[in-house]
Amino acid sequence: MRTADEIRNYQRNWAEARSPAQKEATKERKRLTYQARRDADPEAHRELHYQALLKFKFGLTPIEYEAMLIAQSGLCEICGGFDDDCFLSVDHDHDTLELRGLLCRTCNRGLGDLKGNLEGAKWYLMAHGGI
Ligand SMILES: [Zn+2]
Repeated sequence: MRTADEIRNYQRNWAEARSPAQKEATKERKRLTYQARRDADPEAHRELHYQALLKFKFGLTPIEYEAMLIAQSGLCEICGGFDDDCFLSVDHDHDTLELRGLLCRTCNRGLGDLKGNLEGAKWYLMAHGGI
């Protein structure tokens, strides 16, 4: 697994190394390829797309993702549920890019919406008898 600095350097170098014309040509080629693959086999395309995203955003291989999934018994680490229609999301610290675990869409979005103010949310719920 790559470090956060290695991932940031890779993303920065990848984005800065090409001319605007190269970027536009690549963008159009990728758009057409993306469309053709998606139309030919939507399910396989969805899985490949997610694998590429994991590699690009987190430096995580499909095997490493699978190991995390097995360690969590295939379930969200917060609620124990899962999403029928998508993969569990990779929860990470947005400052350090350090991976924390896999969460269902609802729990991952909930953490993101609170923007790190979990103590405030906990205090609020306790003050109103919610915990
Ligand atoms: Zn959950």
